[in-house]
Amino acid sequence: MKEVTYRSFIGRVRAAVGCLVAAGCLAAYPAVASAEWYRFSDTAMTTPIELEFWTENKELANRVGNDVLAVFHQVDKQMSRYREDSEVSRLNREAAAGPVPVSSGLFQVLQKAREISLLSDGAFDVTFGSVGYFYDFRTGKKPTDEQIRSGLSRVNFRDVILDETNRTVKYRQPGIKADLGGIAKGYAVDLGVERLVSHGIRHARLSAGGDMRLLGDKRGRPWYVGIRDPRSEDRNAVILPLQDVAVSTSGDYERFFVDEAGDRVHHILSPATGKSVQGVQSVTIIGENALTTDGLSTAVFVLGPEKGLEMVERLPGIDVVIIDDQRMMHVSEGLVPPQSE
Ligand code: ADP
Ligand code: MG
Repeated sequence: MKEVTYRSFIGRVRAAVGCLVAAGCLAAYPAVASAEWYRFSDTAMTTPIELEFWTENKELANRVGNDVLAVFHQVDKQMSRYREDSEVSRLNREAAAGPVPVSSGLFQVLQKAREISLLSDGAFDVTFGSVGYFYDFRTGKKPTDEQIRSGLSRVNFRDVILDETNRTVKYRQPGIKADLGGIAKGYAVDLGVERLVSHGIRHARLSAGGDMRLLGDKRGRPWYVGIRDPRSEDRNAVILPLQDVAVSTSGDYERFFVDEAGDRVHHILSPATGKSVQGVQSVTIIGENALTTDGLSTAVFVLGPEKGLEMVERLPGIDVVIIDDQRMMHVSEGLVPPQSE
């Protein structure tokens, strides 16, 4: 059903793609005149959070806004590997010694991560952190060959053992560092949307950096979601009219530096080599929930256009737009304009 929602707008998707081919489109979020749209923003999980929703109940609006923003701070405390006291950091310290009981939220994220690891043949792997840990994109630091070698021996999602009955997690060897940076924001966005729904909200857009969910439409028209041109901050490569879906983008432009050899060192790493993945500039996944689209966008980035498309075509209700390093756009069948089918 969600799939039908955006397919029905395919005519406009086609128009937007045409615009890209001709000249490139500028961001085109329509201005909203009504006072009953409320907007909130914040920074959490080292990323900008944006919330926009419709309510006729002014008293409710602030409560809803604060309630939803609080989710991102809560998930950050739980899942950040940068915080010593997070649940994830505790796992990384203790799970090699024996099973560690975890919250249902963390367990759910780890289960989804495992599912996406299996689907992508290990391209998505939260234990990439065993190597990822050595990178610092703000200061331009990357691991030595020796650090990569030793870190890679601890990269394997199969070494994270999930016990569903007891809701515990155990690592099969010491030194594993799980990093949920590729999936936790999607989880938080889904939780935020659950809160919106519980307050009776029916039209909203909630995003944490590149992970977004649209609740309903924009009251009678679709939301217009721009997929950024990966090499320009203020241009969109394409604009998609969407409603009631999750959209996640992974790009090589969020956290990166250029090293002494002139290579772009960015935050999406190959679990096979421990180095930044080449060949792709951005991947956008459209699907039903943000936990899935977040993980899948990172997975497809690592897999590359050919294998990434192959995986997506096997998944019902999932679509993808890949922009490769030649700036070619690859889209899944659900987004192909009707006349070229
Ligand atoms: P963003 O964080 O900009 O939303 P992504 O969803 O693509 O972008 O997530 C990128 C993050 O995913 C990285 O910062 C890192 O924490 C994590 N990551 C990098 N490589 C992998 C990988 N191969 N498998 C799982 N997670 C990864
Ligand atoms: Mg992701």
